[in-house]
Amino acid sequence: MKREIYDEDHEAFRSSVREFLVRSVIPHVEQYAADKALPREFWLEAGKQGFLGLEIPEEYGGSAAGDYRFNAVAAEEMNKVNAALGSCWGIHADITAPYIVQLGTEEQKQRWLPGVAAGEILLAIGMTEPSGGSDLAALKTTAVKDGDTWVINGSKTFITNGYSADIVLTAVRTSPEKKARGITLFAIPATAEGFSRGRKLDKVGQDESDTAELFFDNIRLTDEDIVGELDGGFIHMMQKLPQERLGCAISNIAHAKQILDETLQYTKDRHAFGSSIGSFQHNKFLLAELYTQIEVSQAYLDQCVVAHDKGELTPVDAAKAKWWTSQIQNDVLDHCVQLHGGYGFMNEYRVARAWRDARVSKIWAGSNEIMKELIGRDLGL
Ligand SMILES: Cc1cc2nc3c(=O)[nH]c(=O)nc-3n(C[C@H](O)[C@H](O)[C@H](O)COP(=O)(O)OP(=O)(O)OC[C@H]3O[C@@H](n4cnc5c(N)ncnc54)[C@H](O)[C@@H]3O)c2cc1C
Repeated sequence: MKREIYDEDHEAFRSSVREFLVRSVIPHVEQYAADKALPREFWLEAGKQGFLGLEIPEEYGGSAAGDYRFNAVAAEEMNKVNAALGSCWGIHADITAPYIVQLGTEEQKQRWLPGVAAGEILLAIGMTEPSGGSDLAALKTTAVKDGDTWVINGSKTFITNGYSADIVLTAVRTSPEKKARGITLFAIPATAEGFSRGRKLDKVGQDESDTAELFFDNIRLTDEDIVGELDGGFIHMMQKLPQERLGCAISNIAHAKQILDETLQYTKDRHAFGSSIGSFQHNKFLLAELYTQIEVSQAYLDQCVVAHDKGELTPVDAAKAKWWTSQIQNDVLDHCVQLHGGYGFMNEYRVARAWRDARVSKIWAGSNEIMKELIGRDLGL
């Protein structure tokens, strides 16, 4: 089905992202996987090309596209290469940078945004703690006021870009008695005394991304490092999570569609019993179902993108898009592995890695159970 949400400007932008990926990224992805991280050159080059500042105003070095569809195009193209690339880019440019753009003071914007747009300051976001991620309001990392400074103690885990980030936007408890309304966002620089990182976590998939546990031991920051309102962090996160979840949904479908296309070709090229394996009725019907699932999901998702662009995407619709597309992605990729036979289980095949990479999409950014909890509450249950 023809998609209607993009015009020629978006397609021209897609070509430039694609050209960057083919020239500067795809030749190196095996090295990224071996290093379990994207190198700084990736960020600097992406910054030079203008792919990191899509939401950053021009006076701070960005391109201020003012149109979420450019973010969507970048996410689609990155995920076609691999899901880890998409998630690292997403955490930096699509998820964390907008907090600073929309909530930061003038001084903070001048301090950080030019470096963020250029890829010189890499961002991560720290919400999840070892004791739990779903119940965000129960987080335990604290900031206690001591004269003019805040003293931060605690830890975060599973933080994407955490091993290489220069600034971690971190959710911290500032008013213990106020539960969800006692959480504040601090921009913690990796250079702060008392900041340390654990090893790169050994994940099942998304080898190319770095994911780390972070430790805060008596880190001293000031009010100038608070992003947004004191004690307003939970509300800020609730306001921003729909974009994060929409970005996940865009990634899920782009990733699954790319591997499905590659699988279709494989089923035309691979033969058994004198016929291409795709031509057996079981596989033909299966591929028909998988393409239908992707295209029908894409139609709902595109409506979410349009709604978000108009500022009308509800948290509940974002939750629907997020859980649904992650389920479709995982189902489609599982069938793609099956259609590849034994090769589908070999790490040197993209389909095997994509299958591993996809599993986390049902867990992160609010698990599928949490998404259904939100939808259920909206149904009055
Ligand atoms: C590779 C990776 C990258 C990540 N990147 C980041 C990042 O950059 N920043 C960040 O802050 N976090 C990040 N996360 C963390 C992620 O968001 C959390 O793992 C997720 O929110 C779940 O939290 P948890 O792991 O503590 O699971 P828990 O909260 O302990 O949940 C365990 C299980 O219980 C279920 N559950 C919990 N509550 C309910 C309920 N009310 N009803 C039904 N079921 C429930 C969950 O769905 C889940 O299945 C990342 C995680 C991974 C794996």
